[in-house]
Amino acid sequence: MAKIKEELQILEAKGLKRKLVFLESEQSDTIIIDGSRCLNLCSNNYLGLANDARLKEAAVKAIKEYGVGTGASRLVCGNTKLYQELEEKLAQFKQTEAALVFNSGYTANIGIISSLADEKDIVLSDRLNHASIIDGILLSGAKFRRYAHKDMVVLEGILKKTRGFQRRLIITDTVFSMDGDIAPVEEIANLAEAYDAEIMVDEAHATGVFGNRGSGVVEHFGLGAKIRFQMGTLSKAVGSFGAYICADKDAIDYLVNKARSLIYTTSLPPAILAASIKAIEIIEKEPERRQRLFENAEFFRKGLQDSGFNTLDSKTPIIPVLVGDPKITVEFSRKLFQQGIYCTGIRPPTVPEGTSRLRFTVIATHKRADLEIALEKIAKIAKELKII
Ligand SMILES: *Cc1c(COP(=O)(O)O)cnc(C)c1O
Repeated sequence: MAKIKEELQILEAKGLKRKLVFLESEQSDTIIIDGSRCLNLCSNNYLGLANDARLKEAAVKAIKEYGVGTGASRLVCGNTKLYQELEEKLAQFKQTEAALVFNSGYTANIGIISSLADEKDIVLSDRLNHASIIDGILLSGAKFRRYAHKDMVVLEGILKKTRGFQRRLIITDTVFSMDGDIAPVEEIANLAEAYDAEIMVDEAHATGVFGNRGSGVVEHFGLGAKIRFQMGTLSKAVGSFGAYICADKDAIDYLVNKARSLIYTTSLPPAILAASIKAIEIIEKEPERRQRLFENAEFFRKGLQDSGFNTLDSKTPIIPVLVGDPKITVEFSRKLFQQGIYCTGIRPPTVPEGTSRLRFTVIATHKRADLEIALEKIAKIAKELKII
């Protein structure tokens, strides 16, 4: 047990200790923390649906009809009819044969990847892929190769040298969660075709955000036919909770039989499923939300860049501001909070050593005037801290 205290002291000394803070309001464009209302610039609630009245109403109705908990896993007796409705909706949304809902993005990735790959396979993963993908690969026992971020030359090099494996699976986030850039999905699909590899994409930050119908980056690039495994979450732009994989019927049947994180866990509450169904309906019907989201993102990104911040290759509502040092990052975040702006610092191991940052995210329901004031305060504090 002495080790626990030591570890905590080490984290503290390096400026890497994490602490939970409590949200005292709805998840919205402004939130209450420590009793004070502040502008929220770090949620993944991109379309502002998390507290939408229509989602709440759908959730309440489902509670009245089905109750709160489900009392069993999906394969025992917890598989409410709402799952069928949601999965049909998702398959139609993503234009695949079938869909399967998991309890979260994290459990989807560990369950899917560990079912698809085994010791005879190799998984090729972008260096900046989400932690849940990495954990899924480790759990699978497959050989694991990371390729440099979005580097198609490196990826092709690995594909050339790994022909001996039973199966090769390339996995990438479509929108990278900490950098806000977009994977070269079309080039990856072409390479996979040329070298006979399979692809799985994680659309966690793209679902509801990209594509004419809002179904993600795969739709945006028109690549549906080329990507067999399309995973995404219902917890970010969708404003609810849970995750999905969309694929052909065989793949879904296979996962129902193999994915341990689906089989050995209690099913999602009816309220959550009903809210997800309603949210997807809204996403399809209200493209103006996406338009507002991108207008806000362009405005905010340009403002930060004009102040001299390094926003990496951000092309999405995720706009990182590179700081470097973890302690200065925490100080930056603390000072912003004193000025009524909430954005937590992102530090290793979430991002590589030396790239600590504030990761700003804007949402569709942010008001332009609030973003303008925030830009001024952010620049002023950054100058005091000599970040810009
Ligand atoms: C957030 C995220 C997940 C995890 O999803 P949860 O529903 O929060 O568990 C998985 N992959 C990526 C890329 C993410 O950003």
